[in-house]
Amino acid sequence: MSDALLQIEGLQKYYPVRKERLFGGSRGQVRAVDDVSFEIGRGETFGLVGESGCGKTTIAKLVLRIEPPTAGRILFEGLDVATLRGKALLAYRRNVQAVFQDPYGSLSPRLRVRDIVGEVLEIHTSMTRQQVTTRVHEVLELVGMRPEHARLFPHEFSGGQRQRIAIARALAADARLLVLDEAVSALDVSIRAQVITLLEELQRELGVSYLYIGHDLATVAHLSHRVGVMYLGRLCEVGESIEVSTAPQHPYTQALFASALPTKPGDQREPLAVVGEVPSALQLPTGCRFHPRCPHAMDRCSAVEPVLQPTSTSRRVSCHLMTAGSEVVGREPAAAR
Ligand code: SF4
Repeated sequence: MSDALLQIEGLQKYYPVRKERLFGGSRGQVRAVDDVSFEIGRGETFGLVGESGCGKTTIAKLVLRIEPPTAGRILFEGLDVATLRGKALLAYRRNVQAVFQDPYGSLSPRLRVRDIVGEVLEIHTSMTRQQVTTRVHEVLELVGMRPEHARLFPHEFSGGQRQRIAIARALAADARLLVLDEAVSALDVSIRAQVITLLEELQRELGVSYLYIGHDLATVAHLSHRVGVMYLGRLCEVGESIEVSTAPQHPYTQALFASALPTKPGDQREPLAVVGEVPSALQLPTGCRFHPRCPHAMDRCSAVEPVLQPTSTSRRVSCHLMTAGSEVVGREPAAAR
């Protein structure tokens, strides 16, 4: 059995679309997540990056069991999350917690910090009220706050402090995996750096794993051990963060990182010319989904969809350039199957 904490295997999430929303009145579906596989090790941060609408937040919802997948499996410590019921499901919810982007909207304004952070303990443990309060004080100190902050309401804190409270809530019951969905995106740059440092320290101290979802490439690359780059519902490149950010192989990854701020002083990479807008998820391009925008597109790119395959022991890429000169590896268009 794999030693991974979380394994995602062939995950799909399709949303049916009503007739009247489609031109021509035909039925259709949005393939928000389409055959995505990756795993997260214990104490590891896996970053998911891509433009808005690429499917990364849908993956967060599936991992958190907010929505069921259309197909595929999510395994937590080898157990299929979709089959969990009763106590096993409660244990999963305790082990897998989320921190969302908006520290203003994710904390109830009517509850004191003690009750916000302690709620997970009251649901998932048999602790007494005093024990819950003691644990809340402990976990507040863990995230750099003071025990007396437990008496205050969320509006009495800054954005960075509120996100620390959200992290404290996620960790109060010893979660094993935090889903961090754009968790620092709304913070000022200096506060963001402090929260990132806190997340790194907590991981070293507690051995917690992170699924970090973001569009800010510099942050994702800095915080993650490995990253997965998503485009229109599929992973197009997966690898060690340092390799993917400094020597991206997929043309979309190259464009993403070239157009981002330099990851180190003196980085003079030229932006790659990527034309056009992201196509509609309702009418996906044939072949490689990136081909209408790819500066390297070849004839076969619009006919055969490339599959994710290893380019080294630590990297997988889905691009025909990786197989140029050898047999094309990919999926035939649906009509040709
Ligand atoms: Fe570009 Fe073709 Fe590679 Fe797709 S498969 S990224 S279109 S070169």
